[in-house]
Order: sequence, then C-alpha cells, then structure tokens
Amino acid sequence: MEEKRIPALILNILFNLVDEMMGHHSLVMLLRQAGLEQYINNPPPLDESPSITVPEYSRLLAHIYEIFGPRGSKPLFSRGGRMAAAELRQHHPTRFTVAGTALKLLPPHKRMQIVLEQLCKEGEAVYGTPHLLEENDSYFDLVMPVCPYCAEIATRANATKQPVIRPVCHIPAAVIGEMMQWATGEKHSVQEVECIALGARACRFRVSKEASP
Ligand SMILES: [Zn+2]
Repeated sequence: MEEKRIPALILNILFNLVDEMMGHHSLVMLLRQAGLEQYINNPPPLDESPSITVPEYSRLLAHIYEIFGPRGSKPLFSRGGRMAAAELRQHHPTRFTVAGTALKLLPPHKRMQIVLEQLCKEGEAVYGTPHLLEENDSYFDLVMPVCPYCAEIATRANATKQPVIRPVCHIPAAVIGEMMQWATGEKHSVQEVECIALGARACRFRVSKEASP
C-alpha cells in the first residue's frame, strides 16, 4: 500500500504560525527537536505536494505540544486548522463549488451533513484512517477511532506518566468549525467531547446544529 504523506501546505501554515507567534528561534528549535532540519532554510511550499509521513506528522504535533505546552499549543493548532481548511478549500474549487451551489438550496443542517460527509472522505484520503459521522437530534458527531493528531501525544503521556488533562485535537476541531461557518454562514460550536489522549476509545467531535450567537 502506498504510504500516506501530509500535504505540504499544512506544514507551511504551521511553521509560519510558530515563527509568527513564538519567534524564529522557537521554530528552529522545534524543527531540530522534531528531526525536520531539512525545513530550516527550505520551508515547505503552500501546495499539496507530499511532505512528511503520517507518523512523522503525529510526532511533530507532539513536539509542538511538548515545547509550547497545552496553553501555548492550543492557539497554534486552532489557527492552523482554520487556515488549512480555508486553503485546502481554495485548492479544490470544483469539489466545493459544485457542493456550494447546491448547498444554498438546502436547510442548514443538511448543508452541514453534506460538508461533514465530504470532510470524512477527505480525512480518510489524507490519513488512511476511518472517519465516521453520527447524527442526533441536536448535533452531529464526527468520530475518529484512530487519530493522527493525538497518537504520539497519547503515547508520550503514557510513557512519561504525565497524563493529559484536556482534549488536544484542536486542529480537526478548528477545521470542522471553519467548514461549518463556510457552509452555513454562521458559527457552530465544535467540542472535542472525547479524546484518545484522555483514554477514550476514539476522538469524538460534537458539532452543534444550532448556530452560536
Ligand atoms: Zn485525537
């Protein structure tokens, strides 16, 4: 089976954010610690060319979490997720424009469902792991039984006996939030209600059908 590789633009966005929010020195330290020195003087392009493998990506996120802590890494992950969602959508005008045209005719929760199904498909294509959608009266749950975002954070927390206190998968939560806002024109809360890093069997993202004020 062909090895999955992360689209370069995700790294481009994350590295730029670390540089901007934490300083160039921090970026160089991060790249050294994560064994990604090749990017120090040669940043990844803002396109979908293949970059690092999925396990390397999991390790990079664990290094970001370790260096900047739960509080410092959260805004990096959240901003990075929103920016990556917007960028990826622009790279796939046909996929989303066709959906977008039809979307306008549908009630908001139907639009949300279609876009969430599309996100599950894209997540499976990028990471090669299952992404499941469940629907309830007032919310959707997007469920990831294998999660590249917290895989390495969870492993390290177990190894060092330093448990993770709060969910850590802010990137997918932000991607979902950005896509819901795009699809409906309104904000919808997205909460990671279960996280593998906290001992759950799957990472579960709860998307409210009701728009937030
Ligand atoms: Zn996770």
